[in-house]
Amino acid sequence: MSQPTPALFLADSRGLDFLNSVATPVDTPIDWLEDGDGLLRWLRQAELVPDSVLRAVRERAIPGEIDGLAAQARALRDWFRAFVSTHMGRSLRKADLGALEPLNELLRRDQNHHEIVAQPPGEPSAFTLTQMRRWNAPDALLVPVAEAMARLVCDEDFAQVKACQGPACTLLFVDHTRGRARRWCSMAQCGNRAKQAAHRQRRKEAADSE
Ligand SMILES: [Zn+2]
Repeated sequence: MSQPTPALFLADSRGLDFLNSVATPVDTPIDWLEDGDGLLRWLRQAELVPDSVLRAVRERAIPGEIDGLAAQARALRDWFRAFVSTHMGRSLRKADLGALEPLNELLRRDQNHHEIVAQPPGEPSAFTLTQMRRWNAPDALLVPVAEAMARLVCDEDFAQVKACQGPACTLLFVDHTRGRARRWCSMAQCGNRAKQAAHRQRRKEAADSE
């Protein structure tokens, strides 16, 4: 069996990487969350849930449970895509809070606590206070995704949330470049394609004017 294509993490924001988990990197559309296995793989690649937790969830799950969770994740993604496409390009306002209620609802499921854990050898103090999360139900796996979306909403300027200018590209990113001049999901993908197209156009124009 061929290895699944690795998911895309180029948005400079996990919340937008989540939206980019359905895309057409070459010619064929890929939905990395198309089933439960895909969702678990994406969560691992996104480093949102520890590997040991994902393995435990997979072992404990009843048949169909994780596939159902993937369907929830896709619905969440659709909802958030609508929010982001409505609001990107300008800074968010307090009045937008009401539209974020579904996200707050998901965040309320979180069961966080802190625990004292031993530090690895070589650290100056013996212990460190570490944030832990209880993963008692599979749908807790969506909480770190909700947190990533909430970070986007709270920590980033929506005026800098942009869509790649590649004509057929659907990828989104936050522009963190100094001149706010990022135009492409990646130079290797759409950037080069645009450069080649511009080059062909110039050659054609030069040939036409001869
Ligand atoms: Zn692109």
